[in-house]
Amino acid sequence: MTRSVSIFGATGSIGQNTLDLIRRDRAAYRVVALTGGANVDQLARDAREFGAEVAVTCFDDRLDDLRAALAGSGVAVAAGDQALIEAADRPADWTMSAIVGAAGLAPGFHALRHGRTLALANKESLVTAGPLLMAEAQAHGACILPVDSEHSAVFQGLVGEDMSAVERVIITASGGALRDWPLEKLAEATVTDACAHPNWDMGQRITIDSASMFNKALELIETREFFGIAPDKIEAVIHPQSIVHALVGFSDGALIAHLGAPDMRHAIGYALHWPERRHLPVERIDLARIATLEFRAPDEVRFPALRLARDVMATRGRAGAVFNAAKEVALDEFLAGTIRFTDMAGLVDATLDALSREIRLTDAIDSLETVLQTDHLARTRASELAKQRQEQTA
Ligand code: NDP
Ligand code: MG
Repeated sequence: MTRSVSIFGATGSIGQNTLDLIRRDRAAYRVVALTGGANVDQLARDAREFGAEVAVTCFDDRLDDLRAALAGSGVAVAAGDQALIEAADRPADWTMSAIVGAAGLAPGFHALRHGRTLALANKESLVTAGPLLMAEAQAHGACILPVDSEHSAVFQGLVGEDMSAVERVIITASGGALRDWPLEKLAEATVTDACAHPNWDMGQRITIDSASMFNKALELIETREFFGIAPDKIEAVIHPQSIVHALVGFSDGALIAHLGAPDMRHAIGYALHWPERRHLPVERIDLARIATLEFRAPDEVRFPALRLARDVMATRGRAGAVFNAAKEVALDEFLAGTIRFTDMAGLVDATLDALSREIRLTDAIDSLETVLQTDHLARTRASELAKQRQEQTA
């Protein structure tokens, strides 16, 4: 029996790895929707190859190019945010949520409303709207499977376990490209420096978030929201080899670790075949060759993002949406060269502070609209604050 699948963010790093797995067992799948952004050539190539029902670009001004590239293919084309939601409304047995940023929330949310199985790579969904997303999944009998490697590892460590016996969860961080840089040097880090990830091959934004530890900050919040674990039971530890992805600690003192090669096809494949385990084309680990697995505490002075994540987990409510939006703006500013690498955390902190005086951050996120409003407000303030700082330093 073929399984129908839709991939949101198909042209990205996670999307391409997902298609790689599907390509290896082509006859087992029917591709419903593939979506992308600016890379319409890739989107069109994949839509043709996999005979997708529909290809959607999020950008209205790329529709003509997409249509031209898919002329005569029989693949329907569409563009824009509403088209993404309509694509999510199309029946599919399995949906991959791999759009980058808060833009990934709405399509995943709609897939859950139809009671679907959602493989969730888009961590921003849980950071901005965790309680809402989890409640929506439960209300509609939908299933969310984590794709972030640490969360997939925790998920696998919890199979057959009683949650009440879980004492702690430890997620690992490679530490990113600038792990060992002193604070003074970090201030001068360029985009190229931050993009040189030692272990993982990922999209540009998450690679820079790894270097600033904002990725791990998002993942602490993601852990809290997905597994419903109290923040004081969640830890992050630096593990330069990226072989151990997460550990679960139980009430008897046992720690169950998940080890695997740093290859996202592992976590994607686990979510694709769950609850079964099937053969995956990932490297098998040779422990004797690796020889050493190191662990050390993260440095929250050089990387304040983790401390900010703790504040966000304590506040909950709308703080996650503000945190994520401010982080996205800070990253855009860094990419544009308007702020320094080390200014990103300060900008996020200042935005949380400003918003705490404007709205009640502890108010629960009760709808998708509230998330989007909070996201918009936080982006506006973060951009204003960035501009003010730039004027002050000019
Ligand atoms: P990429 O940047 O490689 O890909 C992002 C995808 O989203 C592309 O298909 C892109 O289209 C599309 N896109 C970009 N902007 C928008 C928008 N505004 N609306 C709709 N679609 C958009 O990202 P990754 O694959 O690295 O990451 C995807 C998600 O998975 C992120 O949330 C990330 O945090 C998470 N994740 C990624 C991991 C990884 O190893 N890469 C690991 C764990 C989690 P186009 O390229 O055509 O413009
Ligand atoms: Mg991760």
